[in-house]
Amino acid sequence: MSHSPLTEIRLPDLGDFHDLPVIEINVAVGDLVAAEQTILIVESDKATMDIPTPVAGRVVELKVALGDKLSEGSLLLLIAPADAAHPDLAPAVAVAPVETVPVIIPVPVPVEALDEPLPPNEHTAQHTNQHADLHADFLVIGAGPGGYTAAFRAADLGRSVVLIDRWDKLGGVCLNVGCIPSKALLHVAKTIRDAESMSSHGVRFAAPQIDLDALRTWKDSVVTRLTGGLVDLARRRKVKVLHGTAHFSGSHTVTIDTPQGPRCVSFDQAIIAAGSEPVALPFLPHSDPRVIDSTGGLALDSIPERFLVIGGGIIGLEMATVYAALGSRVTVVELSSQIIPGADRDLVAPLFKRLSSQCEKIALKTKVTRIEPQTDCLVAHMEGPEGTTQERFDRVLVAVGRTPNGKALGAEIAGVTVASNGTIPVDAQMRTNVAHIFAIGDVVGQPMLAHKATHEAKVAAEAACGHKVAFEARVIPAVAYTDPEVAWVGLTESEAVQQNIAVEKASFPWAASGRSLALGRDEGLTKVLFDRTTKRLLGVGIVGTNAGDLIAEAALAIEMGADQTDISLTIHPHPTLSETIGLAAEMSAGTITDLFLPKR
Ligand code: NAD
Repeated sequence: MSHSPLTEIRLPDLGDFHDLPVIEINVAVGDLVAAEQTILIVESDKATMDIPTPVAGRVVELKVALGDKLSEGSLLLLIAPADAAHPDLAPAVAVAPVETVPVIIPVPVPVEALDEPLPPNEHTAQHTNQHADLHADFLVIGAGPGGYTAAFRAADLGRSVVLIDRWDKLGGVCLNVGCIPSKALLHVAKTIRDAESMSSHGVRFAAPQIDLDALRTWKDSVVTRLTGGLVDLARRRKVKVLHGTAHFSGSHTVTIDTPQGPRCVSFDQAIIAAGSEPVALPFLPHSDPRVIDSTGGLALDSIPERFLVIGGGIIGLEMATVYAALGSRVTVVELSSQIIPGADRDLVAPLFKRLSSQCEKIALKTKVTRIEPQTDCLVAHMEGPEGTTQERFDRVLVAVGRTPNGKALGAEIAGVTVASNGTIPVDAQMRTNVAHIFAIGDVVGQPMLAHKATHEAKVAAEAACGHKVAFEARVIPAVAYTDPEVAWVGLTESEAVQQNIAVEKASFPWAASGRSLALGRDEGLTKVLFDRTTKRLLGVGIVGTNAGDLIAEAALAIEMGADQTDISLTIHPHPTLSETIGLAAEMSAGTITDLFLPKR
């Protein structure tokens, strides 16, 4: 009988780190492990460190237990070579009996070390044999709200961070071509509409004169102020920023395509925050410059006379609001039977009514089947309840959703699982299936919202530094910054019906709010949903001016487990729109005096 040669896996020199407790053991006796697979995780006061096995094989004996304190040379495992049934796990080289193989693990790099990049090819990646131009203790791919938050949080926790983005400016889609420029333009649209409505209150303004260049310059200045602020925040934290498109080239390396040529960066831990892209419809001529996405819409090159918006979701309606106020004749085409299909029907009804009066048409249950480019226009072929129609437009905006960028990074090369729809699955700590790589934001899926990404970012950065945290938000608010705004958080009424959840509902009409009437508006609504038994708040929906700001109170109330009494007895300032949340709770409790409700 012959004995399999065994390999001893020991902890190598960790620099200044000694007596590190084992916080996780990822293998058991009998497991087959691949080379570079994490076998256990140790923790210092600064970070957690994944300990991979340098060789593949079958675990024969575990020499450590949870809580054991490890230092250089501690024996971790005995491994036998993989059997013939698993040739893929076979060690690359023959192993001698009881050979000692040091584990190569991430060694934290002092912050100062990343102030300047190392000259090309001076530094060798620790986990591959590939030469790296730079080594990052902590790498973040993508500098949108998720990525920069993760980078800054990690830096604040003492890590030396490299932040990579494909664009010259930090801030990602949200700051550069999304949330922020759209809010600047929506503010302009609201001002135009408010000025118009003043004529019925006895104050008349002349028709607005739009100086498109000045408007664009102002919008861009808002963006530049914020993105410039990020550069300063990164610099103060000694976060090294690289510009170029990153692709994984190994489990601990990425290659970055920069204008100066490819550069290789090795890393100990990474966070993927690569965001999402607008969905393109395959049957549309996207190469025609008159067919644009939200980025093209926000660029504000011109104000087209006839503007078609495909998609009555948040982006489509925000853009329709802007362009209609600037003077375009806008048509919105929406596939489903209501605008913003994720929100309750009663909440979007006031928006539908007002926007319909500002647009040429909002066509529901309608789809665009073809766009035919002609020299002087784009002919849209549409199918809806009224049959097939054709209409001419000068510009077409496609806003039919966004798709995550998980497939664009070569993440699979690092061993990261990417779903067929481009999302990267993560656990509650935002950790992918590869223990030292995390993912956050749009790339992990819906809801694709900046405020979700920033919270996930903090969890990921803290978890990577060994904190015992998880993403446990009960609710994530959603807002359409249209006029009126639509905002909702927690359970919607449609979800309560679908999921058979017994709720007590109350809807406070803003026609009874003095503040709303003083603003010249009466179409708002604040709806609260309480658990019928416990009276705990489950969901809130608001449509009306500033709904997006008002919804924050509801989010806090749900997170704190507030009930009907908590909210109805909280003194809201008068006269404010925030009162409508307290008044809706009073309606539900049967204590309201601002309305007359017949006894139930
Ligand atoms: P969306 O998913 O919110 O809306 C897309 C809309 O297009 C849906 O109503 C859908 O029914 C419709 N649609 C799909 N295919 C269609 C077709 N062929 N013809 C006509 N209509 C069609 O997507 P969006 O508005 O593009 O926004 C993308 C993402 O960005 C969303 O996840 C959104 O939450 C996020 N976002 C959020 C904000 C915000 O928080 N204020 C702003 C902008 C975008």
